[in-house]
Amino acid sequence: MAETSIEWTDATWNPVAGCTILTAGCTNCYAMRMAARLEAMGTDKYAGTTRKSGGRAKWTGKIVLDDAALDVPTKWAKPRRVFVNSMSDLFHDDVPEAFIRKVWLTMAATPRHTYQILTKRPARMAEVVACLPVLPNVWLGTSVEDGRVLDRIEELRQAPAAVRFISFEPLIGTVADADLRDIHWAIVGGESGPQARGMDPAWVDEIEAICRRDGAAFFFKQWGGRNKKAAGRELRGRTYDEMPTASL
Ligand code: SF4
Repeated sequence: MAETSIEWTDATWNPVAGCTILTAGCTNCYAMRMAARLEAMGTDKYAGTTRKSGGRAKWTGKIVLDDAALDVPTKWAKPRRVFVNSMSDLFHDDVPEAFIRKVWLTMAATPRHTYQILTKRPARMAEVVACLPVLPNVWLGTSVEDGRVLDRIEELRQAPAAVRFISFEPLIGTVADADLRDIHWAIVGGESGPQARGMDPAWVDEIEAICRRDGAAFFFKQWGGRNKKAAGRELRGRTYDEMPTASL
């Protein structure tokens, strides 16, 4: 199984590889670095998805549809929370609707698992899922890194789902004007890795207050930084691991 150390999920499933940088939240994309490493290790799936630029790996925009990965979750007997496409964005423009439909078929056939789909392209997500069944085991989310992309929350609200969630990670600016009505869950995390940008604790407090006001569960994932283990995941002396209640 594709075990993961991501705090809010149990496993990752990657039927698509490759992506394109979209906004400031993508700058230090972990998947981009990891794809370069996997290609260097000879993993065919990631061949040509990144190139070197200024000493760093950059997505080329090549999108790989991995049909062989489509049935992977059917082989997992135990129920899992599954993060879909940790190495790409399922709603990238170059992922055809026909392929997304196949992903939906796998999720419908495995109701024992809970699927968490996170995109930076919620407008396309809302458009595509309008033609797909609403599955009780599928959670839909979008990433919001700062106040410049708050529109994504409104776009996500248009997508019918058992759970709608926001990943405020990497949080690189205030989102004090966020409206989380009809959003079930908020994950907050600072950026980690060698180029990590800082997260002001006040921005975290703002999100927690918005969650309390609008009724969203609050999950504090990490402070991040160059040494994320050392920085830890306690906020005011405790952890916050709230999970959403599905509305279907
Ligand atoms: S959308 Fe996600 S996977 Fe794609 S570049 Fe941005 S952070 Fe990376």
